Amino acid sequence: MSIMCAAKTSLTARERFDLYLRSNHKRRTVERFAIMDRVLRAPGHVSAEELCKLMKDDGYPVSAATVYSTLELLVDCGLLVRQRFNDKASLYEKASSGTTSAHHHLICTCCGKIKEVRDPALTDLIASRHFAGFTQSYYSLNIYGICGSCSRRRRKKGKDKE
Ligand SMILES: [Zn+2]
Ligand SMILES: [Zn+2]
Repeated sequence: MSIMCAAKTSLTARERFDLYLRSNHKRRTVERFAIMDRVLRAPGHVSAEELCKLMKDDGYPVSAATVYSTLELLVDCGLLVRQRFNDKASLYEKASSGTTSAHHHLICTCCGKIKEVRDPALTDLIASRHFAGFTQSYYSLNIYGICGSCSRRRRKKGKDKE
């Protein structure tokens, strides 16, 4: 288990990652910081594969192995959260800082679309919960169902059959 980086909100992402790499005796390479910058700028959720493509599009190609290992370091450092919404590849997203950016996911089991919803009352409720002998650090709430366009499509299909 590695040493967690200081969760000081005053530190920038770059400073946090730098501190984490130093304290865990890992190499602080330019590639790792470039990957960090890119993934933090990506909106929503991104897979390692998509991130490789984004880096390439930016004219900064890096090996898939480097992308994978850097993403794991960023998760360990607390800057990213790894999500597994379905049987597809893991997706990464920025760790929410405080309750303002916290969100939940509505996942369509039909088309796989992921919608982010913010529900401060629910976020506060979960944050206020205390579990005996357990300290919460983060959580992931995924609600599965059928999205609006899929249910419209289903209704249409049903009508066509009549
Ligand atoms: Zn859908
Ligand atoms: Zn999300």
